[in-house]
This record gives sequence, structure tokens and C-alpha cells, in this order.
Amino acid sequence: MARISIQNVAKKYGEGSGAHQALAGVSMEIADGEFVALLGPSGSGKTTILRAIAGLEKIDAGVIAIDGQVVSSPGLHVTPEERKVAVVFQNHALWPQMTVFDNVMFPLLVNAKRTGELELRVNEALDSVELEALKHRYPDQLSGGQKQRVALARAMVGHPRAILFDEPLASLDVELRRGMLRHIARARNPKISIVYVTHNQEEALALADRVAVLSEGRIEQLQTPMILSQEPVSRMVATFVGGRNILPATVVKTQGEHTVWLELNGYEFVARCQKQPATAKVWVSIQPSAFEVAGQGKGLNVRADYVFFQGDSYAMEGCCTALPETLLNIRLLLHEKPVVNGWKTLRITDAWVLPESRA
Ligand code: ADP
Ligand code: MG
Repeated sequence: MARISIQNVAKKYGEGSGAHQALAGVSMEIADGEFVALLGPSGSGKTTILRAIAGLEKIDAGVIAIDGQVVSSPGLHVTPEERKVAVVFQNHALWPQMTVFDNVMFPLLVNAKRTGELELRVNEALDSVELEALKHRYPDQLSGGQKQRVALARAMVGHPRAILFDEPLASLDVELRRGMLRHIARARNPKISIVYVTHNQEEALALADRVAVLSEGRIEQLQTPMILSQEPVSRMVATFVGGRNILPATVVKTQGEHTVWLELNGYEFVARCQKQPATAKVWVSIQPSAFEVAGQGKGLNVRADYVFFQGDSYAMEGCCTALPETLLNIRLLLHEKPVVNGWKTLRITDAWVLPESRA
């Protein structure tokens, strides 16, 4: 069980002119058994938060508490061992001179003597990541994915209150990633909270109960994957998480609280909004998959400047006449390749107005 409470945490590296504010006031609550992903570009402070929770980094301001016990504040620092949280890093950090079995056993021997019961626990942990057959091997006899599974078993064996992952799949190829994602999904347990750092939005959205999007040491938005994808609060979240296109549009009419008609280059379309915009000019965000070819009737004329095949459909990037400088990213369910530099008339099937203060 671990409720992790992070309140106004700040952290600066270095001093004077070379100083860097890595965390500029981060607050969030992670519930018992919850899986929270920290998603953000490189340098946004993800690893720093993770290390602060683990006790590997001291903080300058704010409070971190686990299950109500303060573990970090400017005047107080509980050691990593006493926090009972486990960390899985990208480079798995296995001990090369120890077998797989001994690597997983090692954390248990910090506080206890080796017993049959502990050996049973190690075997269970290895079994849960399907590695029992390889337990007598050494790390250099394992593939990258297998090493990462050893690291996962080693994290789970001590029955930690929380497991903190720092980009655990970053060094694996696509197929291994999927396999490892399954193992991580299986490691989920109502007693273990998970904090999962990644710069890959697919990973974050695939697994997490909630995702915190970080930018420059601050949380931009903390939400469920669905809301984050459908209702980004800012330009940063809209582009980083959803790869959304952001276009200027004009309000034509409103309908109820959460629906608005917009106009762009003579084409009118419906958009969702948090509340009715206060101004006639708004920024609207549109997912690449929210375009379709307009049969008859009106649409947005877009030139297919670049065409990419994507397994089952074509993606194109192109500009519309009204916005010659803005390259739109569009994913179309087309079975015929669009003509490069040809024009397509497209309808917008879903759009979301960015809240004014954050556009
Ligand atoms: P992320 O994991 O999101 O890539 P980090 O938390 O590692 O980001 O780093 C946040 C910022 O703090 C970055 O600009 C990074 O260069 C800086 N930073 C991280 N660790 C140190 C350190 N030990 N000394 C100085 N600066 C650091
Ligand atoms: Mg990092």
C-alpha cells in the first residue's frame, strides 16, 4: 500500500548562474495501487521527481509523504531503504558477476539470512516474469528484454509499496517493448502503486490510470489517458500527447455549454469546448485521425505535400490555402495513395477548442 503525496516540490541543480531549476513546484497525489505515468520531453524533470520519491535526491522545497509519513522535506530525508519503494531503471543495473537468481535474491539479503522461504520468493518472482528457466545464467548471457525482466523481478521480490520505473523500455526494440509492457501490466497489483516515467506517449497512455504531463519542471495536466487525449488544456499537451494540429478559427455560433461552430477558410465545423469561448477568435486542436475525405459538399482544401504509408492507411502532411505556413498532420483511412502535391477536400470530424488562458 502506498499513497504518495507530493506537495509543491522544488529542486534546483547547481548554484549561481549555472543553476538549473529542474522542478518548479510540483504537486500530485498518487492513490493506493494507482498507476501514474510521468510523461514529458527530455529535461522536463521526470527523472528528478522519480529520484526524489525514491530518496535518491534531496529536495529544496515542498513535502513528499508516503502513506502519511513525511519522507522528504527541506529539513528531513528518509533513506531510500526505509522508504520501501523499488526502482527499475532503463539500463537495468544488474550485477554482472551474479547469476539471475542471485541478482533477484540480493535485495532480500540486506536485512535477512538466505533461507528456503526467501528462495521460494525469488523463484516466484522469476516465475512471474517467465524467467525461471534462465535463473542460472549471468546477465551477459541474456538479451536486453530478459535483463529488463530480471530487473522487474528484482523490484517486485521485496514486496515494495511502490515500484518506480524510469524509461524501462527505452533501450528495447518495438517487439520487446510490447512483451515487456505485458509483464508490467501483469505486475500490477492493488497493493503496489506505480510511477512510470517515459517520454513516449503511447506507453504512458497504454498503461496508466492517470498521466502527468510535465514541461520545464511543472505539471501541465494530470488526467486519465482518455481525457488527456480528448481535452488537452494547453498547446503543449495538445501537441506533445496527441500530436494535434493547432489552427486559428472563428466562432460562428454556440450551442449549449460545450459545443461551438467554427469557421476556417469558409468551412464550418463543430468543435467541443470546456466552456463557451469569450472571444470570436480561438485556437482549435484537431487529432491527425479526425479528418476524412469530404465526398460532396464543403471541406477544407489541403495540399498533400508529404505522403506516408502507415500499415493500413496513408498519412499526409500538407497546408490549406488559408494557412500556407502551417503543415497539418493528417491520417486518412485511404487505400489509394494520395497524389503528392494534389489537393484533397477534407472534413473535420472532431475538434477541441483550447482553453483561452493556455492557448
Ligand atoms: P528528464 O528525466 O525529464 O529528462 P531530468 O529530471 O533528468 O529530466 O532533468 C531535468 C533537468 O535537470 C535537465 O535540464 C537536466 O539537465 C538537469 N539535471 C538533471 N540532473 C542533474 C544534475 N545531477 N546536475 C545538474 N543538472 C541536472
Ligand atoms: Mg530522465
